[in-house]
Amino acid sequence: MSDAIYLDNAATTFPKPEAVYAAADAFYRDAGANPGRGQNPLAQRAARMVDDVRAGVAAWLGASGPEHVVFSPSATIALNQAILGTPVRPGDAVYVSPFEHNSVLRPVEHLRQTRGVDVEVLPVDPIRLEVQLDRVERQFQARPPTVLGVAQVSNVCGVRLPVEELARLARAANPDVVVIVDGAQGAGLYPLRLESGLIDYLVFSGHKSMHGPIGVAGFVLASDRRPAPILFGGTGTESENVGMPTLGPTAYEPGSLNVWALAGLGAAVGWLRETGRERVARSTQRLAEQLSEGLRSLPGVRLHAPGNSVGTGIIAFSCDGVPPQAVEAGLGAAGIAVRAGLHCAPWCHRMLGTLECGGTVRVSPGYFNNSAHIDALTAALRAILTS
Ligand code: PMP
Repeated sequence: MSDAIYLDNAATTFPKPEAVYAAADAFYRDAGANPGRGQNPLAQRAARMVDDVRAGVAAWLGASGPEHVVFSPSATIALNQAILGTPVRPGDAVYVSPFEHNSVLRPVEHLRQTRGVDVEVLPVDPIRLEVQLDRVERQFQARPPTVLGVAQVSNVCGVRLPVEELARLARAANPDVVVIVDGAQGAGLYPLRLESGLIDYLVFSGHKSMHGPIGVAGFVLASDRRPAPILFGGTGTESENVGMPTLGPTAYEPGSLNVWALAGLGAAVGWLRETGRERVARSTQRLAEQLSEGLRSLPGVRLHAPGNSVGTGIIAFSCDGVPPQAVEAGLGAAGIAVRAGLHCAPWCHRMLGTLECGGTVRVSPGYFNNSAHIDALTAALRAILTS
């Protein structure tokens, strides 16, 4: 393995738990057939593996059953399925937060351009980075939402959004609102009460907070609502019918599933269960707390964090007079991987005032980092800023 210090776990968690490598490798060597494509023993074994992973993901995310979990190749595709599969009419109000990733903003912009919806942005205090719920309530009452699309955790600065409160306010203003939560950065680590019916679709990413491989993600169908399919093709079922099957996850899963990644995801969920949600979340929060203390001791470093708390373990900062890309390059030269830029979330940077200056530096420790990694980063950054 590379001896770089990897602190970009918001891009993808790395390394993976050993069990993930082992399960993906073993599956592809022993039973790498195509699930749902034929009755041969290998295809059946692959199908059983997918069923088991679906059940494991459903239990971990709090879905009411495996049939409510849809697999997609990425969170981006899952968000497109949820957003573009939602029926809207010209003049409908689609609300998003300023923290949203382009995988929410771009499908919503597509709805604006092609379907004439109005895009409304939730008010957030730009200093405290808190959603202003009293203003949101008034906004929803004045202009009831048709769709609400919100991130569970900001991939820029780790802010955790009050998604359940937002969903409650949205439903009070319009009981038929479609609530889509982008859980790419938080799903499974920060549980949501899905059984209450407040949320319609919870999107998850297999390779971020779930600690599995890149190549599998999906969404939980958390209410009675179903999006219209936007992807069409073979499913290995009802093949006499050129319309898509309408029942269960198959309605949204045309094409061969990424069995390698699914096998890894199954092992990742097992590892999460054994390790414990709280322990995984706390370990990154603790490292982020250590990091913010270190950053506060450095001259000219500005943290973009909610109040005094570090939220979920993703830290954003700016350095006076040094572009974020120069900081990333300097840290890279010292063997430390972080990510500078806009992190595909332009409106968040507009709110932070960092859009025009190349964004921020993002440091996102993971479960496999330790405090020596944080010390190394703080020392390397001090050297960059004082050289
Ligand atoms: N939403 C958020 C909040 C993200 O951080 C990301 C990835 N940066 C995505 C969606 C999209 O995930 P993917 O690129 O794996 O599709």
